Amino acid sequence: MHTILASNNAKKIAELTPILARFGITIRPQRDYGIDEIAETGLTFVENALIKARHAAKQSGLPAIADDSGLCVPALGGAPGVRSARFALDAITDPAGREALQAGGRARLDAENIRHLLARCQDVSAPVRAYFYSVVVWVASADDPRPLIAEGLWWGTLLAQPRGEGGFGYDPIFQPDGHSCSAAELSADEKNAISHRHRALVRLNTLLDEAGI
Ligand code: IMP
Repeated sequence: MHTILASNNAKKIAELTPILARFGITIRPQRDYGIDEIAETGLTFVENALIKARHAAKQSGLPAIADDSGLCVPALGGAPGVRSARFALDAITDPAGREALQAGGRARLDAENIRHLLARCQDVSAPVRAYFYSVVVWVASADDPRPLIAEGLWWGTLLAQPRGEGGFGYDPIFQPDGHSCSAAELSADEKNAISHRHRALVRLNTLLDEAGI
């Protein structure tokens, strides 16, 4: 099955492509179809995923898959949650400072997000439990009344210091349950076999089967 992936995030696409290929789903990033980005204005992960998938399906006329994901720390009321990608930016009140951080690129923002999260966790007693969350939605068309919605959770503990060079985002401070390293120290294949995204996609595969798609 050929589907549009409503994302242009290169690292996310690199993680999703081999997992979806196992289920016979070929994806192409939305930029291949000239689809622009849409603001993620939802209060929840699932609302944001649906906004992205419907937008991609509307502009292409094809079925679309979108995911939304983030890190949740229950001791912080679920933060950074849907704000995961912009956690450090949200904390800067001065517009010029925000602009400067945004202009610094993804790696710099990831490092600042980690620093900000660790600062917020200073008063939380260890171990700081956390989970990565992914929701993947599939829509047959822009106005699909029954989107398929699949969730995945990946539990672990936050490390006090970043470790490892792999992955992206909060991987360097996330120690998955059952492992003694950070997610950034796992190989891409190891992470793809156990991650929140993998779990959501396994569930999506079942939902597609059940729907006869
Ligand atoms: P999204 O692109 O709106 O789904 O933003 C997800 C954000 O959550 C990313 O920018 C990361 O900060 C974080 N995140 C999601 N999945 C992962 C992961 O697998 N590892 C590390 N960080 C992640």
